[in-house]
Amino acid sequence: MGTRSSEEHTPPKPKTPTFQLELPLAVEAGQATRVGAHLEVGRQFYNAVLSAGQQRLRRMRADPAWQAARAIPRTQPQERKAAFAALRERYGFSEYAFHELAKGLRVSWLAEHLDAVLAQTLASRAYRALNRVCLGKARRARFKSKSRGLDSIENKRNDTGMRFVLQPGTQGRPQGYLLWHDDHIPAIIDWDDPVVAHGLAHEVKYPRLVRRRASSPRARGADRQGERYVVQLVLKGLPHHKPKHAVGTDTIGLDLGPASIAIVPRQAEVRLEPLCAELAPNARAIRHLQRQMERQRRAANPEHYDEKGRPRKRAKGAPRWKQSRGYQASRRRKATKERRLAAHRKSLHGRMVHEIVRVGHTILTEKISYKGWQKRYGSSVGRCAPGMLIDHLRRTVASTGGTLHEVPTRSTKLSQFCHGCGTFVKKPLWQRWHRCPCGIGPVQRDLYSAFLAAFLDPIESIPSCARYVIPWEGAEARLLAAHERAIQRANEGQVMPRSMGISRAGARLPKSPSEATQELLFLSKRGKVEAWKHRPEPLGLRPGESSV
Ligand SMILES: [Zn+2]
Repeated sequence: MGTRSSEEHTPPKPKTPTFQLELPLAVEAGQATRVGAHLEVGRQFYNAVLSAGQQRLRRMRADPAWQAARAIPRTQPQERKAAFAALRERYGFSEYAFHELAKGLRVSWLAEHLDAVLAQTLASRAYRALNRVCLGKARRARFKSKSRGLDSIENKRNDTGMRFVLQPGTQGRPQGYLLWHDDHIPAIIDWDDPVVAHGLAHEVKYPRLVRRRASSPRARGADRQGERYVVQLVLKGLPHHKPKHAVGTDTIGLDLGPASIAIVPRQAEVRLEPLCAELAPNARAIRHLQRQMERQRRAANPEHYDEKGRPRKRAKGAPRWKQSRGYQASRRRKATKERRLAAHRKSLHGRMVHEIVRVGHTILTEKISYKGWQKRYGSSVGRCAPGMLIDHLRRTVASTGGTLHEVPTRSTKLSQFCHGCGTFVKKPLWQRWHRCPCGIGPVQRDLYSAFLAAFLDPIESIPSCARYVIPWEGAEARLLAAHERAIQRANEGQVMPRSMGISRAGARLPKSPSEATQELLFLSKRGKVEAWKHRPEPLGLRPGESSV
């Protein structure tokens, strides 16, 4: 990510490809104290810029010209743009103006801790946060509290101020240091790791120092405050490609759900899989900790709740919230668990992406509204992060020279289409099967959508009957086989999201079209399994009935 300069003052530089490499730092106690002090000053500086910027934003929005600019219809984009630009200019609400503001705010004692360029990047950060508010993309910009602190700071370049250097070390292998003020903080470098070696062979654009909370002060690599430091190097070039990751040439249709994925290549094996099912137990542990923290917060702060246990409205001059030791410990535990979960999810995503890319490099899928999903299937989306999976896939496919086509859902409506008769029939969510009187199906609906996507024309992206007649003959059996395999794995005990239409015990073909909520079925919980077994008979279709 490069820093964007203000459009009206300097033309944007052409972007070069970048990638990142993260290296842990071996920080001594004295260094940790000094770095902590610098970051604390950085935090205060960021808050000062944010506060001054917020005032500018408020004044700008209070100006009658702001309402006038908003009233300009969107059909006149030039006028609208010019009106807003004039306002921004007048009130100094631009990245460039914030840099000027930062110059004024970076006074004597601050300057000792904060280099001019670091102050500039912090000002850019404050501007970006406020600009999101200005554009209506965020409700408000947050100040960094003392307890949470500023956890990262970055330079813009690698020749002055905070910078990363390689120096001759032992055994002919260079040693890397993060230089900041008078401190030389050694980075821990594993030269045998090809990813690290590849990264360090590239030019460093700029370094970013990141502080992370360890699970406890006794954790490995943590300082006395229980904090770890790492340096993220932003490098010029392309990331390392592991040679084991071969790239296939097939065309693949994907259907991504909040907790499942259907993969239908034109030739290779079809798959229907749950997404990140391994994460469910950890996600549950995090929820337990969340509830525990809520109890601890209540116990330590009874004055903040009324007699019915509802939180009181926050008044000016109200006593501060207290954090008990137990609460702080739970918070650290939760943060650690969340970090592990995120790392685990990332590795699962990486595996899935490479399994897909190994088969084919042309991928078609429907563009999905992740915001809408978040509202409907919050917990599944939070755990499986399908949006992140798509982003990961997009990056990987692009770096291997393939394409990921995301076709608009509104025009394609693959989940409603039947290629046998060319009709669009809306299926309710619980209906996991595509079965049409024209003779197509029954087939699991995610697999069917992915099949339609695989043979879609990305340019036209409107499904048509003629295109699918021939491929269907070859594909039908493969789709059914993939579904049978999923059923078999479910029978062997793998947890499947209910959205796949597979329940574990005795799962068979269209027997249970109504078991279709998006929550995972936790078979390990006794009570839940019992409840599941004794569920009321579904109102859905009986086998053999038609869906239209
Ligand atoms: Zn049909």
